[in-house]
Amino acid sequence: MNAVERDGPAAADAGEVGVMAGPAGASPVLEVEKVGKRFPLEQPPLRRLRDWWKGRPAPVLQALREVSFSVGARETLGILGESGSGKSTLARVLMGLYQPDGGRATLLGEDLFTADRARRAWCRRRMQMVFQDPFGSLDPRMNVRQLLAEPLSIHLPFPRGEWEERMVRGLEEVGLEGDSLDRYPSEFSGGQRQRISICRALILDPVLLIADEAVSALDVSVQAQILELLVRLKEGRGLSLLFISHDVAVVRQMADRVLVLFKGTIVESLPARCLLEDVVHPYTRRLLGAALHLREGRPLPPVASGTPAPAAGTQFPSTQAKEPNPPTGESGLVSPEPPGESDDLPPALNAEGGDSSGRPRKGGCGYSPWCDVQSDRCAEPPPEMEVHPGHRVRCWRDRP
Ligand code: SF4
Repeated sequence: MNAVERDGPAAADAGEVGVMAGPAGASPVLEVEKVGKRFPLEQPPLRRLRDWWKGRPAPVLQALREVSFSVGARETLGILGESGSGKSTLARVLMGLYQPDGGRATLLGEDLFTADRARRAWCRRRMQMVFQDPFGSLDPRMNVRQLLAEPLSIHLPFPRGEWEERMVRGLEEVGLEGDSLDRYPSEFSGGQRQRISICRALILDPVLLIADEAVSALDVSVQAQILELLVRLKEGRGLSLLFISHDVAVVRQMADRVLVLFKGTIVESLPARCLLEDVVHPYTRRLLGAALHLREGRPLPPVASGTPAPAAGTQFPSTQAKEPNPPTGESGLVSPEPPGESDDLPPALNAEGGDSSGRPRKGGCGYSPWCDVQSDRCAEPPPEMEVHPGHRVRCWRDRP
């Protein structure tokens, strides 16, 4: 069976070999344009009735707004943000687990949202995801053989006679014994389960792997092993990687480029090597400062204009402890305009200035309640600006 028969016409159109052979970032594997996602908010019946009577629109959580980016061949794109910033929603939208409200996304030129069923199935096969929880993401009633056979039986990419050999080879590739096939997830440690999850994702030969907080639930020593494994697999297989994490150090270590997500909006995108020295957006600076503070007890760096960023070459510690969260809705997703006074504003952020009501300026920058360098212009939506080639920021700060 050749690649075209196996993968459908898209493989021929996209030039499977050409994309994989290209230099990092040369040919986008994944392109995302203005993708948005909103979730309706649950309301008590009386309030719902009152809003309906007064003609008010139903409240929603805007989890993603007009998110655009691309991932090149063999590139690792880091998505950095706190809990509730929309990182996992983005991954789920791309995987087809949530329906987007708008926008477009293509994998090797194939539309993820509007393609017909056969082409969507092809896209799903070539884009696989590793979830955060190695305990919850594997069915405890299935042994490893069944877990690995499940995607093969859904997508049928290879003849059945090859399955066993592929499973054994896949397990060995992720550092597990080939004779693990008849064991159950409960017989493995957390790190080993995550290896099984990675093996399950790779068994379909994807071109893009989405790792959604893939090491967050693991011990630090196991984290390092899994990160090393991901790098080895990515380089060995020529994969592209969408690496989602709240951990600044891990993202900086893994990624070529980084997008910083705040309340569903990309506020800064920059090369990962600049993540310590050259960040501009006050939110990114606060993330960096909090990560340093958590590990070393250092004070948060001020974000006032002209304040130097942490020194180049600073050893940046991994932070397992999560950042204080911006206001989140009940579902853990952030609302563009927090619906009430009960928002869980972190004291450290409130104390640093901004609007004491904790509400963003209507129509203006969503970060304004926590920003201590805001100006009158922040009442308007901040435009995107290129700071340096490859470094863009959405902020009025230092704007002439
Ligand atoms: S646009 Fe204004 S409020 Fe928003 S982060 Fe920039 S300076 Fe702060």
